[in-house]
Amino acid sequence: MPRERLYLFDTTLRDGAQTNGVDFTLADKLAIARMLDDLGIDYVEAGYPGANPTDTNFFSERRPLRGKLTAFGMTRRPGRSTSNDPGLAALLDAQADAICFVAKSWDYHVRVALETTEEENLASIRDSVRAAKAKGREVLLDCEHFFDGYKAKPAFALACAKAAYEEGARWVVLCDTNGGTLPHEVEKIVGEVCQAIPGDHVGIHAHNDTEQAVANSFAAVRAGARQIQGTLNGLGERCGNANLVSIIPTLKLKPEFSQKFDIEVSDEKLSSLAHVSHRLDEMLNRAPDRHAPYVGDSAFTTKAGIHASAIMKEPATYEHVAPELVGNRRKLLVSDQAGKSNVLAELDRSGLIAELKSLGISLDKDDPRIARLLEEVKAREAKGYAYENAQTSFEVLARRLLGQVPDYFDVVQYDVNVEQRYNAVGEKVTVAMAVVKVKIGDETFISAAEGKGPVNALDVALRKDITKQFAPYIENLKLTDYRVRILNTGTEAVTRVLVESEDEAGDRLSTIGVSENIIDASVQALMDAIIYTLVKSRAPA
Ligand SMILES: [Zn+2]
Repeated sequence: MPRERLYLFDTTLRDGAQTNGVDFTLADKLAIARMLDDLGIDYVEAGYPGANPTDTNFFSERRPLRGKLTAFGMTRRPGRSTSNDPGLAALLDAQADAICFVAKSWDYHVRVALETTEEENLASIRDSVRAAKAKGREVLLDCEHFFDGYKAKPAFALACAKAAYEEGARWVVLCDTNGGTLPHEVEKIVGEVCQAIPGDHVGIHAHNDTEQAVANSFAAVRAGARQIQGTLNGLGERCGNANLVSIIPTLKLKPEFSQKFDIEVSDEKLSSLAHVSHRLDEMLNRAPDRHAPYVGDSAFTTKAGIHASAIMKEPATYEHVAPELVGNRRKLLVSDQAGKSNVLAELDRSGLIAELKSLGISLDKDDPRIARLLEEVKAREAKGYAYENAQTSFEVLARRLLGQVPDYFDVVQYDVNVEQRYNAVGEKVTVAMAVVKVKIGDETFISAAEGKGPVNALDVALRKDITKQFAPYIENLKLTDYRVRILNTGTEAVTRVLVESEDEAGDRLSTIGVSENIIDASVQALMDAIIYTLVKSRAPA
């Protein structure tokens, strides 16, 4: 039987951005949009142009994606024409492939919140869909509070959905905006809607207020809906949105869905899911949920004992799916085989294995250098290092242990001063100054620099002398992001610093440093970025 196409719509950058404490920069948004696109998401909703400068900026230029970049906004305001509504104009001008409108579909909201008539609400939907179609955009309509609206007045809720569909909207999305609807209700109501609107034009947008957003999404699909909206890691205000990181593997791996539906996410991309999930956490400076289904650190961990020995004989005895399919790993506390294959997988991803092979060095699981690297990684992880989001540092470490890092320079000594004082015009200013002593070959250099903060001052001072020696290789290396987390490793608190840099080619380098001292941790991370760039560009030592 041919499988039906099911579409995934991600709203991490719009609905997810409404989470308390989440504040994406433009660079974050671009990186996450690309990550989602690469994963195989069909629609990436990146924001609400006109609502804030970041989102307006995002949509001010073409951001080419494989999937459809979607802008979110409201239908025209009641009592206005489409040509006389600045909010709608900003949305129509956004550089996007698709526009997702949100409109009321609960009569109570139309009356109380919008203070308008049901007829005017329907006219607003029709006019807005028509205006966006005239602009050449694909159109979606999010029917806000659809399930509550349908329970209160089914004919009106359905009329809102039908108005959009009949006007040519590609998708009508039924939203459980307050997240209070239960799976059996969703299944029944979506089934009824699909009698009036073909299911391959119906989507579901579920919130997690009864912890059933994922279940509600599947209930809608069972009833005929063919688009699921959700967010990475279930990000979203209050209790979050439907978690695509749980939905995607279920669609791919459970026969109930995998035999009936195709999604754009390939098997290969599915195996990067754990990485995608953790990468988002890292960008948000949050610790990943160890118990997250499929991708959590504990999702496939078994304690030693009878379970572990059974798993060694036959993994299927205790695992509902194979962990490597979603990029996770089986963890048994009795063998380091899993650790070894993980280190090999990381080396493979960095391209180092292929590179070494081209030099005539081949590495396999039983190579003693792999065991040594694994031990080193384990020892460092115990201190607070986390290489999953610091690929660049991992590669520097691996190359160093394999003897592939020349002796470029040595930081012999450094000193940083932070001073608060009044400047010439009487303003209170904080200035940082750093002095760094570097040994390059047989020569020793000393440089000083001022900066906006201690790390910036150190970065500038550190590079002054190194740049003199290695200018063409590192002069275009830019620090683009800097994140700090205080970790409690059990015995003491340590600081973990993650630095993102961008090299001349626009590649992002992610490096890490861990120390009891934040400055020391920062220096480690900054040095790894410099060393990596020198190694990659084959700078002579
Ligand atoms: Zn929502």
